[in-house]
Amino acid sequence: MLSVDEALEVVRREAKPLASEEVALADALGRVLAQDVAADRDLPAFDRSAMDGYALRAADVADAPRALELVGEVRAGQAASFELGPGQAAKILTGAPLPSGATAVQQVEKTRPLDEFRVTILARVDERQNVAPRGSEVRKGERVLERGRLVDASAIAVLAATGHASVTVARRPRAAVLVTGDEIVDFAAAPGPSQVRNSNGPAIAALARLAGASVRVVGIAPDRPDATLDALRDGFEGADVLLVSGGVSAGDYDLVEPALAELGTTFFFTGVAMKPGAPLVFGRRGDALVFGLPGNPVSAQVTFELFARAALLRLQGARVASRPRVSVELASTFRNRSGRACHVPARVRLEDGRLVARAVRSMGSGDLVAHARANALVVLEAARSEAAAGESAVALLLGRFLDDDGAPEEARA
Ligand code: AMP
Ligand code: MG
Repeated sequence: MLSVDEALEVVRREAKPLASEEVALADALGRVLAQDVAADRDLPAFDRSAMDGYALRAADVADAPRALELVGEVRAGQAASFELGPGQAAKILTGAPLPSGATAVQQVEKTRPLDEFRVTILARVDERQNVAPRGSEVRKGERVLERGRLVDASAIAVLAATGHASVTVARRPRAAVLVTGDEIVDFAAAPGPSQVRNSNGPAIAALARLAGASVRVVGIAPDRPDATLDALRDGFEGADVLLVSGGVSAGDYDLVEPALAELGTTFFFTGVAMKPGAPLVFGRRGDALVFGLPGNPVSAQVTFELFARAALLRLQGARVASRPRVSVELASTFRNRSGRACHVPARVRLEDGRLVARAVRSMGSGDLVAHARANALVVLEAARSEAAAGESAVALLLGRFLDDDGAPEEARA
């Protein structure tokens, strides 16, 4: 069985960037840039006042206090129609361009009006003080965002400021979501006593959307070979990635892998040495990738987080396809008797300047409620059967922000 890192390497290798498309800036959020982005002008585009105050020549107020002659006013969006001579000042507002001749701005709090025509500057200023010089942030033509960058709100700001009303991004991968299991019923239906509501389908669809995919819900396939074949065939239709839940263990009714084989799937791996989630299938059929995720709800979400998310992001050419890893201090003893790399749902937070991880009380890989209380996965490598309180470990941050009661502060991560 492959290790997590080996499997991830295979996923990265097989998920090759899809085509790109141009979208309006308003539609770029959450997409991945398929172009480098350059500034179309200097930023700031002019010598910009950072304060409300008076534009002046710094040399004139070296021996402040000093009275200067008022020659006008410059507001944001205006250009001064005058030039500032020696001994002169102009009222200036934040964001306004410095009039020519001026070399600095003194903030209004350090000035006092003398009369209608003069102002007293109470303190000296350095050359360029309170001025953001033209091009000091970015030069025209300079690269401001790189291809492969996820477009977040800060990138939207950069695109807008540098003249990009539209931008080239990777097209959204088309994901199809299929769940399997005789016991699984639609979440909107009333489950019988031994039936289970379909939670994986909605969870996987949500995870795929958060990773930038468009999602088609294929439905629920019963555990019969013909039905599994039909549902898989349907799922592959038009998909870049088929995401299947359940039916990949070694049980009598685990029919997904043989059905995928019958449909001509090439398998890259059929298991990963990890817990939860060992029976994880990854393959290709034609142009489509396919993941057979374990049915256990936590296993399905964890294996998606690690592998399917990476695949969807790589299909979009994203340079960063994994969740951030940090070093945490363990608040209690973590055990790993599986002999595989173990991913334990945990709560990570800053305590006295250190990132501390607490295990979430969980009944195991079926406990989706416990998983929703975690914001991280603490990783215990295969060889590490025990990690004592106070020791450190690597944690994978899931991009979820929870308050102390485990309630999400922000759902869109
Ligand atoms: P399987 O991998 O098919 O053996 O399923 C393992 C466990 O996960 C079983 O207890 C299933 O009932 C549960 N399970 C499978 N699919 C789903 C689903 N779509 N939603 C919720 N639980 C599921
Ligand atoms: Mg099943």
